[in-house]
Amino acid sequence: MLIGWTIAKYFERFLNSFSLRLCSGCSKVYADDYYCEFCLERLKYSWLKQNYSRKYLDFDYQELEDILEENFYPRIYKATKYDDATKALIRHFKYRKPFLSEFWARFLYNYWTLHADWILSELSIGDIETYKSADLPLSKLDIYISAVPMYAGKQKKRGYNQAALLAEDFTEIFDLSQKYLAQTTQGLVQLELASVNFVPDLLVRVKDTPSLFNKAKYQRLEIVKDAFVFDASLLPETTNEQLVLLLDDISTSGASFMELGKVINRSGYSGDLVFLSLCG
Ligand SMILES: [Zn+2]
Repeated sequence: MLIGWTIAKYFERFLNSFSLRLCSGCSKVYADDYYCEFCLERLKYSWLKQNYSRKYLDFDYQELEDILEENFYPRIYKATKYDDATKALIRHFKYRKPFLSEFWARFLYNYWTLHADWILSELSIGDIETYKSADLPLSKLDIYISAVPMYAGKQKKRGYNQAALLAEDFTEIFDLSQKYLAQTTQGLVQLELASVNFVPDLLVRVKDTPSLFNKAKYQRLEIVKDAFVFDASLLPETTNEQLVLLLDDISTSGASFMELGKVINRSGYSGDLVFLSLCG
């Protein structure tokens, strides 16, 4: 299904390159990009300002301790706010226009490049080899990118999982020459990218869960409980640092990310885990 939509996505882009297109947001104005300048103006480019949203969850810590079986707090980063403007622009990507994943992948990747040093600084970087005398200690990093999975039946009906398309395009535009600086417990470390991989089947949704929209936050946790399976065997054994980046389009309460984090933690995966969402 993913391959079918990947072909459709490129075909759509190919056609679009020859003609003016109507804005995918308002459908009123012709646009050079996927959205017109008026729509883009309403979208808060959080990487241009200091107002990036960093929010762990919609639950406070005491509530979490009461709910969770284990002491686990996922790290969730949201590129922009889930407001009326964003909602209107994302709606088309979610339901009718899979080719918009290219735009949203760029949006998220810009957020990542601006904040990666800071995001990576919060990870538990392990062994560091000393890299020539004058340079900073160096650690090699493998990144595995995947998406919050959709239930197979639902995906068949809709035709695609927008989060998976987003993750695929995000991986495609990743600049492998990027280096990061991370402040760790062992001091300042240079992180060099060894590989960036798209792993579409890393997670599977095994329960056909109802929409979390309009549900109370505790209900949401109950709904997504045991809904996911994580296949750690898809990640190779390596001495490099490992980071799983899980992408989604919208994360409001963080309930799905929290459940996914629990599943991944229990699998024995020992690398790091970061959740990246377009908005929330
Ligand atoms: Zn527009």
